[in-house]
Amino acid sequence: MKKHNFSAGPCILPAEVMKKASEAVLELDGIGLSLIEISHRSKEFVAVMEKARSLALELLGLEGKGYQALYLQGGASLQFLMLAYNLLENKAGYLNTGTWSSNALKEAKFIGNAIEIASSKDKNFNYIPKDFDIPTDLDYLHLTSNNTIFGTQIKKFPKTGVPLVCDMSSDIFSRQLDFSSFDLIYAGAQKNMGPAGTTLVVIKEDLLGKVSRQIPSMLNYKVHIGKDSMFNTPAVFPVYVCMLTLQWLKDMGGIAAIEEINEKKAKLIYSEIDLNPLFQGFANKEDRSSMNATFTLTDEKLKDTFDAMWKEAGINGLNGHRSVGGYRASMYNALTLESVGVLVDVMSDLERKA
Ligand SMILES: *Cc1c(COP(=O)(O)O)cnc(C)c1O
Repeated sequence: MKKHNFSAGPCILPAEVMKKASEAVLELDGIGLSLIEISHRSKEFVAVMEKARSLALELLGLEGKGYQALYLQGGASLQFLMLAYNLLENKAGYLNTGTWSSNALKEAKFIGNAIEIASSKDKNFNYIPKDFDIPTDLDYLHLTSNNTIFGTQIKKFPKTGVPLVCDMSSDIFSRQLDFSSFDLIYAGAQKNMGPAGTTLVVIKEDLLGKVSRQIPSMLNYKVHIGKDSMFNTPAVFPVYVCMLTLQWLKDMGGIAAIEEINEKKAKLIYSEIDLNPLFQGFANKEDRSSMNATFTLTDEKLKDTFDAMWKEAGINGLNGHRSVGGYRASMYNALTLESVGVLVDVMSDLERKA
């Protein structure tokens, strides 16, 4: 039986996407060939790439607004470096809200003057810093919209005239935002879109071409844009699965529809965390993530009992990241409200038994 998969990443994908993807590995749309044995320059795959790119822009409401969507390799982690290579000339600012933000800043420092403008490290990243000053002379301000490890999420984005760059790896396509207020958005596929192996990058084209350094081809957004995201062989299978997931999302009503379900899931788990005396939330209430709920047991002696109970209920992937401990319930788009219900039932059963 399929488990209730709360894995933080790579994570759950919609069942119908899995079925179509596995069929395409055997034979793509009746062409007598597998998706993964045809040329990426074939008309079949070119159509897949085009659709994956246009669906991304359409769902984000960015069509016809000067943006390009790319599916690149190297994960979100290569974007930490690549975005700085393409955008950092004088100074870049970073809001440090967790491990991934820290890594993004560390990589940008290989390229130029990247500074931390605020941090929540003083409390092990359990909150989002607010009301910090944003220097007006930044080339860009880098944010992480959802902190996968710590379970915090930016709810209100800073208003600034400085270009906004955002790592949305773990909450892209999960909630409605004014995506046009961002100049560059990137997301590793394996949290809310597809398997590991490709990274969506959405860039406002007029942001490019402003740095004085030479940029090697593979790291140059302009080169990838000029080749319609096929400068070299793209990750054909991951891109195909992303296309299917975005089509699935569009068919169900787009981001507005999934946001409603995501809010219900978050409300369900957080009300149990708040009301059940055996559990304690990790993240500051007003900043807590609708994608990753982090929590601990108030009595560590119950750990073995609780662990046995959720495993018995068919739940997978609930252990917290080592830097936070406890538990983390990741509730990405494809996880159903019913699965969250199963977890909440186990939590209240524990209270009854203890
Ligand atoms: C998982 C994650 C990353 C790292 O992604 P890779 O594709 O493994 O490089 C970066 N940022 C955030 C917010 C993440 O959740």
